[in-house]
Formats: sequence, structure tokens, C-alpha cells
Amino acid sequence: MRIPRHVRGGLGGRFMIIVVVIVGLAAYWFSNQKEGLVTGRKQMITIGLEEEVQMGFQAYSELLQTEPVLCGRGANTCSVEDGETVRAIQEVGRRIAQAAIDWEAEGAPMTVLGEETARLPPWGSLADKFDWSFNVIQSDTPNAFCLPGGYVAFYTGILPTAANIDGVAVIMGHEVGHALARHGAERVSQQKLMQIGQMAAGAAIGDMPVAQQRMIMGAMGAGAQFGVLLPFSRAHESEADMIGLELLVRACYDPREAPLLWGRMVELGGGERPPEILSTHPDPEARMTRFEEVMPQAIAVYERRCGPLPAR
Ligand SMILES: [Zn+2]
Repeated sequence: MRIPRHVRGGLGGRFMIIVVVIVGLAAYWFSNQKEGLVTGRKQMITIGLEEEVQMGFQAYSELLQTEPVLCGRGANTCSVEDGETVRAIQEVGRRIAQAAIDWEAEGAPMTVLGEETARLPPWGSLADKFDWSFNVIQSDTPNAFCLPGGYVAFYTGILPTAANIDGVAVIMGHEVGHALARHGAERVSQQKLMQIGQMAAGAAIGDMPVAQQRMIMGAMGAGAQFGVLLPFSRAHESEADMIGLELLVRACYDPREAPLLWGRMVELGGGERPPEILSTHPDPEARMTRFEEVMPQAIAVYERRCGPLPAR
């Protein structure tokens, strides 16, 4: 089909604006990259730690007001059994948090990745500034998370999959790992950038036919989803796995439980609707391979710090 000359000119001009905006955003992106995470990946974070912790605090306060907190302040009853569950989870949380604080104070590298190749945790001292809090939510949903600032929520629905105290520690370590690596802040920064890009593109194509606008915005959105957000969330998951493993052996929990726990989690996802905690988690085989690779080192670190592992 031949496009009339004046239309082509208009499209070309707008196309240039979109290109300029994308180049500008890319430049901004790279200029905000921070040097090396534990895995060597660079991060773009454009919000301050205080803002991030404030966001975590706000979300956590709302959660505690709307969800039933097991043996919490507003709870009518607290059976002996529930009380024990809450205390056990809080104990795991405190040990993992203390391990993070000591790790930062030591300035030690990721020992589970091997002393030579490992990097120092790049976030400096973060764990000692967190306002650590551990609450158990009475809910069938299999879920757990740690918000920026160290605000942890553990749903009772995940306890059957956790299966034992080491399993609880694997989940706790992984979730705390996300918070320490500031994955939340990174995600917010990404989304801000995407919004700016889409707004700019929207302005540039504002008087195009609606169908064409939709096509361009759709392509941009899909590009962002599959090019940036999805691979990033996979990178986040494997980073959280490795930071979690480090915290696990530092807090003297059995590292051999980590691949077992994630194996049980995959089975849990076998139903038609995968639980939230699984939605962005990496391909299970790649994850198992990674755990197998680092397990001898993780066991060695455990045994050096905590004594021999029990026979299994
Ligand atoms: Zn995760």
C-alpha cells in the first residue's frame, strides 16, 4: 500500500520523538546503575532508602489492619499451639535478621558462592537500620514476604509446604534476601521509568488513529514486560535464593533443605492457579541446578560455623 507523502512525514517525525525518548531513558537507566550485586548484576535505583522503608512501613501497617494477625494484638483468642507457631516463626526471623546484621558488620563476601569469586554485599549496612518485624497471618493462601525495612509477613497457608523449621528458614532467608538486595526499590524505579516512557510516547502519537496508537503502546508494554520486567524478576529470584542460602548457613539452619523446599513449592504450583509466591519464580530445573552447584560450599561453610550437619 502506498502511504501519501504528508502522512509518511508525520509518522517519521513522531517516530523520531519516540526514538529520542527511548535513547534518553536508556541513558538515564545506565547512568543510574549501581555497581555489582552479589551476583555481579548492576541495579538501577532512583529512590532513596528512607522513601523505600516508608513505603514498606505503610504497606505493612495496612496489611496488619486488614488481615487477621495470628495471636496479634487484635486477636480474640490465641491457642497454645498457635502461640508456639508464632514464637517459632519469630525466632527464625530474628536469627536470620541477626545473621544479616553480623554478615554486614563482618564485611564478608558471599561465602556460599566460594571465597574467591564472591563479592561483598553491596548494600553496605542495611540490616542494622531495618525496623525488623515478624507477623503471622491466618490465611490459607500460601504466601510470605519481607517488605523494605524488614517487615515480614508469614501466611499460615505456607506452613504445610515449609514442613519443618529449616523449611521456614529457607523461605525467611529468601524473602529477607529480596529486601536486603533492595529489589522492591529497583522495581519501583523500573516502573517509574516505564511510565515516563509511555507518557512521552503517548504524547508523541496522540493524534494517530486509535488502532495504531494501541499497536504502538501494546508493543512497548510487551517489550517492557518481556525485555525488562520478567528477566529482572528471574534475576531477583535467583539472587534472593543465594542471599537466602548465605543467611541460612550463617544462622545455622540446614542448607540441604533449600532445594527440597523449592521442590515442594513446585508441587504446590501444580494446580491450575499458581500461588503468588510462585508467579515469577525461576524455572525449577535451573533453580535446582544452581543449588546443586553451590551446595558443597554451603555445607562446608555451615560445618565450619555450626559443627557437623546431622545425617539424613
Ligand atoms: Zn522470591
